[in-house]
Amino acid sequence: MYKISDNIAKVQARIRKAELDYHREPGSVQLIAVSKTKSADEIRSAYDCGLNNFAENYLQEALDKMRVLQDLAITWHFIGPIQSKKTRHVAENFDWVHSIDRYKVAARLSEQRPNNLPPLKICLQVNISNESSKSGFSVAELPSIFDAVAELPQLQLRGLMAIPKKCANLTQQRKVFAQVASSLRELALTKKPKIALNTLSMGMSNDLEAAIAAGSTMVRIGTDIFGPRS
Ligand SMILES: *Cc1c(COP(=O)(O)O)cnc(C)c1O
Repeated sequence: MYKISDNIAKVQARIRKAELDYHREPGSVQLIAVSKTKSADEIRSAYDCGLNNFAENYLQEALDKMRVLQDLAITWHFIGPIQSKKTRHVAENFDWVHSIDRYKVAARLSEQRPNNLPPLKICLQVNISNESSKSGFSVAELPSIFDAVAELPQLQLRGLMAIPKKCANLTQQRKVFAQVASSLRELALTKKPKIALNTLSMGMSNDLEAAIAAGSTMVRIGTDIFGPRS
């Protein structure tokens, strides 16, 4: 039996060490627990250990767990592929969406975000390794999609998300993450009013150190918190 509190402590220690090693401000990297395929009880245990940001990939599964966990003050992140037919539930139930990969999805989320909720915080997903199997915008597409999404009233554009392919070593992995960071800096140069472009959602269980070295502000950790997914 694994102890979730030990896993969380280990991940938090890795984040702290990476912040120190790479001269990042202590506390500048937020831990997002990826709870896909894990039960509501497991989320509750992680919450009891002090985590309150959870990310899900599959809509129906997420909605089922949210219902059971209504009593907890959780910030919910959607990180999976979004079907444009299913945007309404995402708009109504999540605080963040990291996986915006089409303008149409962004427009629908803005339209369907209830007025009594704050604007939905979003990241544009970048396909940094240009893999045809991965979703996301190419670096070249970013400026125009950025301009278009920035106009959507019920969304708050916060940054970029990437899931780069696995590289042979930390140096190479870090270089790929650094390309995402530099794309964000270039977008930030356009200085659009009202936009706080300060989020780099990158880094998972296997590559969080490389991501933090490159400037990540949110690491999405599943396996190293909840154990392997079956
Ligand atoms: C599953 C998933 C994660 C977590 O990956 P681990 O390797 O289990 O830490 C992070 N981000 C996304 C988008 C995922 O789908």
